[in-house]
Amino acid sequence: MFSAIDMAPRDPILGITEAFNADQNPAKINLGVGVYYDDNGKVPLLSCVQKAEAILIAAPAPRTYLPIEGLAAYDKAVQELVFGADSAVIQEKRAVTVQAIGGTGALKIGADFLKRFAPDSQVYISDPSWENHRALFESAGFTVNNYAYYDAATHGVNFAGMLAGLKAMPRGSIVLLHACCHNPTGADLTSAQWDEVIAAVTNGGLVPFLDMAYQGFGAGIAEDGAVVRRFAAAGGPLLVSNSFSKSFSLYGERVGALSVVAATGEEAGRVMSQLKRVVRTNYSNPPVHGGKVVATVLTTPELRQLWEDELAGMRVRIKEMREAFVAKLKAKAPAHDFAFVRDQVGMFSYSGLSKAQVEKLREQSIYAVDTGRICVAALNSRNIDIVIDAIAKVL
Ligand code: PLP
Repeated sequence: MFSAIDMAPRDPILGITEAFNADQNPAKINLGVGVYYDDNGKVPLLSCVQKAEAILIAAPAPRTYLPIEGLAAYDKAVQELVFGADSAVIQEKRAVTVQAIGGTGALKIGADFLKRFAPDSQVYISDPSWENHRALFESAGFTVNNYAYYDAATHGVNFAGMLAGLKAMPRGSIVLLHACCHNPTGADLTSAQWDEVIAAVTNGGLVPFLDMAYQGFGAGIAEDGAVVRRFAAAGGPLLVSNSFSKSFSLYGERVGALSVVAATGEEAGRVMSQLKRVVRTNYSNPPVHGGKVVATVLTTPELRQLWEDELAGMRVRIKEMREAFVAKLKAKAPAHDFAFVRDQVGMFSYSGLSKAQVEKLREQSIYAVDTGRICVAALNSRNIDIVIDAIAKVL
């Protein structure tokens, strides 16, 4: 029965990693990744995580099943982080949250849930978007379309195109928006532009699905979450997926959550019952460890402060790398203007490098995505000069 199965296309990002791993040059640099590295080029193990794990180990607990919706303390802490502790949607019990297997798992639960209750809607994602968005919603059975987003000429957002796209969508369409730190471009909306987007989504009867995989990597934890709060204040329906893979450096623990805002507490109860059904038929209930670590950090004041400081450290280091990238390229290649890299936010930058230039970089053992996306969080004080020299050569 497997003889007629075709080979699936290779994942474009994992393909880069394979080529990088096969490269024998000891000075090779991988800017194709979607992971935060510290200045030593290592994935950090945060002190707040180590301290939370020490607390958990000191009071060993049996590994029973969690409830279908996950650890109650985790779900509550996530809601307060995402919507703000004083949020009306929490007080009115209009928000429900399920622990999920990373941000990807949250998107998948949301997609399956929507397919059940909005089967005829179509999904709209930004052009471009995180490459798994399309695949996730298509695998849930949706037709997935693009809305205009990136403007290569300005290295920013084609806002007029985006707004026109939103206004043209049929009522009931599902629109996926990056709450902050747009992946892959690094180009975010301004606060005033978000006002217009929220108005277009509300007036057009669209269903917003906010993906927040990088809370804290833009302007700050509360600042990055502000968009979610503004959508929540505009009234439901609203879906929000969030992930702690990056902000806690807990990639392999798979910790994320899906939150849904309904019109009333009673409606939210019905939504929750259906979300649980989706979880139950996918993986029954989520894993324990990562959820406990995150809940312990978020609800223990000293650990929470430590996490906020460590996350600020990651955010500041990325910003320093943006500054250094722009300044050093200006010195090496004054004819080319890369100042836009300073304005982009989050872990990534659409650098404007062409596919041909990326291929030439690869000949110098520097790996980036063919689209020109580079992971600014993979730059550090030791590799940046090598990267700048290589880029200057291919320009
Ligand atoms: N959404 C976006 C925009 C992402 O960039 C990512 C991860 O790279 C995810 C979701 C998925 O997050 P996780 O690794 O927690 O599944």
